[in-house]
Amino acid sequence: MIKVKAPLRQDSRGRVLDIIRATEPTSRIELVRETSLTPASITHLVRDLLVQGLVREVGQAESTGGKPRTLLRLNHDSMTAIGVQLGAASVGIVAANLAGDIVGRQVLRGVADLDPQVIVAFLADAVAELIDNLGLDRSTIAGIGVAMPGPLDISGGYLRNVSYLENLSGFALADELETATGLPIVIDNDATAAAVGEYWLGTTDKHAAYATVYLATGIGSGLVVNGMPYRGSSSNAGELGHVSVDFRGPECTCGNRGCLELVAAPPVLVERARQAPPSAGLGEISRDNVEDAMSQLGILASRGNEAALTIIRDGAELLACGIVTLVNLFDVDMVVLAGPGFTSCAAIYLEAAQKALDSRTLARGVHTVSVVPSASPRDAAALGAATLALQDKLERKPAATEKK
Ligand SMILES: [Zn+2]
Repeated sequence: MIKVKAPLRQDSRGRVLDIIRATEPTSRIELVRETSLTPASITHLVRDLLVQGLVREVGQAESTGGKPRTLLRLNHDSMTAIGVQLGAASVGIVAANLAGDIVGRQVLRGVADLDPQVIVAFLADAVAELIDNLGLDRSTIAGIGVAMPGPLDISGGYLRNVSYLENLSGFALADELETATGLPIVIDNDATAAAVGEYWLGTTDKHAAYATVYLATGIGSGLVVNGMPYRGSSSNAGELGHVSVDFRGPECTCGNRGCLELVAAPPVLVERARQAPPSAGLGEISRDNVEDAMSQLGILASRGNEAALTIIRDGAELLACGIVTLVNLFDVDMVVLAGPGFTSCAAIYLEAAQKALDSRTLARGVHTVSVVPSASPRDAAALGAATLALQDKLERKPAATEKK
């Protein structure tokens, strides 16, 4: 049965692990102070984590008069998870350790035109290859997180209505992938996974209210407040690409009219480039892969090709309109630009979005909103998905119990 991952970890074990990760080396006394759990609870939780090998003791802190404090660190490589960003035009796979560090990655072709069973075999092979190449012990792998474009309509364990991946409609992806890999699977929206990934990449503060705008084949956004992703009632919150910017505009596949995605998504910008006259100098734009084409267009724009610059700037201005709406609705402190669509032209998008936010948001006199590039635009969603798999494992069943 597919699990769309619910909350960021909130159980005590998870909180303790988060604090150790953020402050290591730390001690039980500091954990009591940071969590407001009782000393007895912390002693018990830390004992469990030591038994499971997730945490280790690393000597003692110099005494400041009281009893010496035993220092604790995460055992970073005691657990690894695999994250998959499953896209129409590309697939990114990462392996991340317990500290949220990426320890291996690969980028593969997209799966828009593949049969679902072929996709499962393709992913299972790629994951197995990554595990082998990294020399990872399979018994330490928590599971696989899969980040996909929305909308995710999951009914009875089957995917439905996934944008740009209609070939997966009616397919039980998680069950099939679990069978093929022998690893537990969690699924989430790619923009939400990217927002979680940005925290782990160090782009954002856990306590901030921030949004990630995710540009791949489509346009999405993920929201995090106080370390918690906001998913709405069906994990379909933040569908920025389907905010209407023209109510008389053309009908979108979603049923709305004049959606942002119809005028600003990479396939639309790339098509404009492909239609440009030869004199525009855009002849080298890929005819096959929209992400490659977007990347080439971005490179040409940053080299000063006027036609490319006009197309990317138009896309950036339109997206900036959407970002102003996002900020007006959710009053975030920061917007992170993530996703493969930004890999070669983030600077143009950043400038347009920052200018729009500085001059057009309702609360601009109250606080500023900064726009920053992702620390790793291509990896953010896959990393976020990997960390969701880690959390799922940690919350589901303590490893020590499983071994019995
Ligand atoms: Zn739409």
